[in-house]
Amino acid sequence: MNETEANFDIAIIGGGVVGCAIARELSGGSLTVALFESSSDLGNGTSKANTAIWHTGFDTVPGSLESSLVHRGYEKLGIFAEQTGIALERTGAVLVAWDEEQAAALKNLQEKALANGVVDTEIISAEEVIRREPHLGEGVQGGLVVPGEGIIDPWSVTLAFANLAVLRGVKLFRSTPILGITEAQDRHLLETHQGSYGARWLINVAGLYSDVIDRMIGHEGFTITPRRGQLLVFDKLARPLLSGIVLPVPTERTKGVLVSPTVWGNLLLGPTAEDLDDKGDTRSTSDGVKALLADGKRILPRLMDYDVTAVYAGLRAATEHRDYQITSYPNERYVCVGGIRSTGLTGSLGIAEYVAELLRSAGVEIPSGKGLESGFTMPPLGECQIRPLQDPNKISEDPAYGTVLCHCEQVSLGEVRDACHAMIAAENLEGVRRRTRALNGRCQGFYCGAEVVDVVARELGTAPESLMGFQ
Ligand SMILES: Cc1cc2nc3c(=O)[nH]c(=O)nc-3n(C[C@H](O)[C@H](O)[C@H](O)COP(=O)(O)OP(=O)(O)OC[C@H]3O[C@@H](n4cnc5c(N)ncnc54)[C@H](O)[C@@H]3O)c2cc1C
Repeated sequence: MNETEANFDIAIIGGGVVGCAIARELSGGSLTVALFESSSDLGNGTSKANTAIWHTGFDTVPGSLESSLVHRGYEKLGIFAEQTGIALERTGAVLVAWDEEQAAALKNLQEKALANGVVDTEIISAEEVIRREPHLGEGVQGGLVVPGEGIIDPWSVTLAFANLAVLRGVKLFRSTPILGITEAQDRHLLETHQGSYGARWLINVAGLYSDVIDRMIGHEGFTITPRRGQLLVFDKLARPLLSGIVLPVPTERTKGVLVSPTVWGNLLLGPTAEDLDDKGDTRSTSDGVKALLADGKRILPRLMDYDVTAVYAGLRAATEHRDYQITSYPNERYVCVGGIRSTGLTGSLGIAEYVAELLRSAGVEIPSGKGLESGFTMPPLGECQIRPLQDPNKISEDPAYGTVLCHCEQVSLGEVRDACHAMIAAENLEGVRRRTRALNGRCQGFYCGAEVVDVVARELGTAPESLMGFQ
């Protein structure tokens, strides 16, 4: 490693959706920018396991940083998804009151929405709720319609940001955890297994570990307590049970258990909210599953007639504070972006824009970011999109797009091959899953697993055995 390779104007620690959004925002100018991610893939932390809702931010705390950045991020992400061909469905949501106390709270929630700049909500009667969502359980007392809520493909968002950042010159280091940070005269020295890298400015976007990085710099502004959210994915046959997202009345701690369609055509039930000590504990538990099924039975009884095809859990980076923990320390050339709890997917582009502003006001020359997306698109993965197997033009260009590999999710050989050779290529089956949907369907790889493993092993030039043990 020579001196130029090892020194950057800006180093970003953490390649989740927020770190990648920041990398994209800061790319394309004269500054040298590096993105360090400890995992072998981007979006492998909290960003891979969320509810994938494109939030209006109607229920955030008015006046908070989260409120303004989610509001801004929501607008920007809607445009970004359209420009880059990422699946996004504007389903709308109805927040359901299940008792009189909750019904009485709807007015306050509507006022809160207004204070958060969400002007088009509407309080509706129990009859109107049932007319919109006829399969809901007994006891509906009324509802609040939030027409702007939607669902999005969360994996492609992170990958799109990262691809654009790399295309515009950001140097990406995967499998490169930052182990320690020391200060030299005019730069931070980031210690890795490959040696140390220098950076004039440091941006900490390490998600669950943002407090650890913050302490490496000498700050102690917050402590992350992982808040686990377990979720159940129901078979696609259940999709007609709902027209949009069904939300509960949120509490101080959590948005509560919702039922939502996904852009893959499933229904999702969850998440739980459990405070843990272990930042790596993404296990699903029998208690969690039982609690969710009890909620699901109450909210949408007929959901119980359908199979659960997958369970997963994600960890929110909750802190002792209620707001995002974003602070700039210009004298230390350091920006901390921590505590991005349950809205970071939606807020990512708003957060990135805000971080760029913080850097500009500290005198750093950040490019304007205009025209970043021209011509760049992501593979179409959503049910609302035309997939390669449905596209005669694509198939006639290359028959590999007409060869089915994963029947449940309708994934072609061509897509799996492409995922292994993309600019930011998949390095394992998890990476292929998130880039193509292969193995994610009803059979969870039971039928297609062996063939997918063979293809991925061949394309990556590795032994099939090295990819096994993925379930
Ligand atoms: C159950 C659940 C449901 C959610 N639902 C929604 C939703 O519907 N809509 C929404 O907008 N948001 C939702 N969220 C929130 C959203 O997923 C997060 O806010 C967002 O993913 C946070 O992104 P991040 O980049 O800050 O963190 P992460 O994705 O965790 O990224 C941080 C990265 O830093 C890396 N890292 C850590 N330490 C180091 C180190 N020392 N060196 C190098 N790299 C390091 C990690 O490997 C990780 O990849 C939900 C979250 C959960 C858990």
